Amino acid sequence: MPDLFIDGDWRAAVGGGTREIRCPADGSLVAVVDEADGKDTVSAIDAARRAFDSGRWSGTSAAERGELLLRVAGLLVRDKDALARAESLDTGKRLVESGYDIDDVANCFRYFGRLATADPGRVVDTGRPDVDSRVVYEPVGVCALITPWNYPLLQTAWKVAPALAAGNAFVLKPSELTPHTAIHLMRLLQEAGLPPGTGNLVLGAGPQAGAPLAEHPDVDLLSFTGGLRTGRLLMAAAAGTVKKVALELGGKNPNIVFGDADFEAAVDMALTAVFLHSGQVCSAGARLLVADSLHERFVAEVVRRARDIRLGGPFDELAQTGPLISAAHRAKVEAYVARGVSEGAVLRCGGARPDDPALDQGFYYLPTVLDQCAAGMSVVQEESFGPVLTVERFGGEAEAVRLANSTVYGLAGAVWTRDEARAARVAGALRLGTVWINDYHPYVPQAEWGGFKQSGVGRELGPTGLAEYRESKHIWRNMAPSAQGWFA
Ligand code: NAD
Repeated sequence: MPDLFIDGDWRAAVGGGTREIRCPADGSLVAVVDEADGKDTVSAIDAARRAFDSGRWSGTSAAERGELLLRVAGLLVRDKDALARAESLDTGKRLVESGYDIDDVANCFRYFGRLATADPGRVVDTGRPDVDSRVVYEPVGVCALITPWNYPLLQTAWKVAPALAAGNAFVLKPSELTPHTAIHLMRLLQEAGLPPGTGNLVLGAGPQAGAPLAEHPDVDLLSFTGGLRTGRLLMAAAAGTVKKVALELGGKNPNIVFGDADFEAAVDMALTAVFLHSGQVCSAGARLLVADSLHERFVAEVVRRARDIRLGGPFDELAQTGPLISAAHRAKVEAYVARGVSEGAVLRCGGARPDDPALDQGFYYLPTVLDQCAAGMSVVQEESFGPVLTVERFGGEAEAVRLANSTVYGLAGAVWTRDEARAARVAGALRLGTVWINDYHPYVPQAEWGGFKQSGVGRELGPTGLAEYRESKHIWRNMAPSAQGWFA
């Protein structure tokens, strides 16, 4: 069966392009999928435009849209095992993690399914009995949704669910490396009864399959999750047609540990913060900022435990984390670590591929700690998106905040202290979209997600996440018109 979904039909690419998808854990062939070029993408945009303008979906009630999303949530639960397996084969991540991701995907559809009807608009009190004045919400139109490979279906759900809840049509382009759960999702949307043309899927590399999505005049909104460099490029490309643009970009997230922190919990979560999914997490706590007084003891324990982390493929039940997504990405992480060492960072562990022959065919890289880092180093400023922790030291609270805020990013981070007043002060001073206090990584769909500074534009999740996909329109109705103008 062909893999592009356009105007309610499964199609092969016009130019006949295909791509081999290989599992990053062992290089085995997962499948060969169709790969779109610009012409296919333009067909998908045309289909979405026609569907949107027909009112088949945009004209339905919020209650109908909410019900469809809840049906999709049920289908995701039904297909959880198959989806988790597909996600693990594409990404190499542990099956148990993929299972949690699919739970989160179903939750996301449930959340937006309920939110669809929560805010029907409002009456504006003008103080004039002869005027009826209301603010109503309308869908934006055709949404282009471009997603990355690290949480393929979850990042997709964060866009598809609110876009549909608001009544939009969409064209989805997932990462070329991890297409399978997006294909499955389109089948579920079809099964749930989404009208043809409302949801379209194009697969393929960014510059070929994705580029028209940023430039085409019939796309009204571009929502992108991925790297900073691609985000800048797409924002510029979207300027020509003044699209609404939402960007969820990278992070270089500080994890700040004060001397009075709960030592065991802070060490444990410092490891989770950076080594979960081998660091391929936008909110990874990749910068450890640790108080001078605690530095040696804390780092020694992090290093001791990092050395013990067991690497393995998706179905190795003893594995604690998996491979990097591709050979190219591992080469990038290797170059990043080498640069850090040449800049003066001290390699405390890792910095190499594992020597276990069972892992030879996968793109594994050992959990790595770079100590004695300074804010000016490129390893501190740039995202590695790999299992690499940089360590900086600080004297007092002001220095911790200054260092934490010293990159162009502002996505997420944490502060560890038993002093509640200090935790509140530091959380307030951090220029980050999410701050965890004595924790790392949890999120809930009810709260907005997004970055300050160059980590992004706009928000996903939460009521603001839905607002991104709606236009609000003020309708003023004069119920007693008369000739009362300036020149009457
Ligand atoms: P990427 O920027 O390379 O690619 C992301 C998507 O954009 C892919 O689908 C890709 O094909 C597409 N793309 C690339 N060039 C394009 C072009 N010219 N036109 C249209 N589409 C194009 O990012 P990636 O390597 O897939 O993902 C990793 C990045 O994503 C990291 O920087 C990470 O921090 C970020 N990320 C951010 C969040 C967040 O919530 N802020 C979440 C997950 C990932």
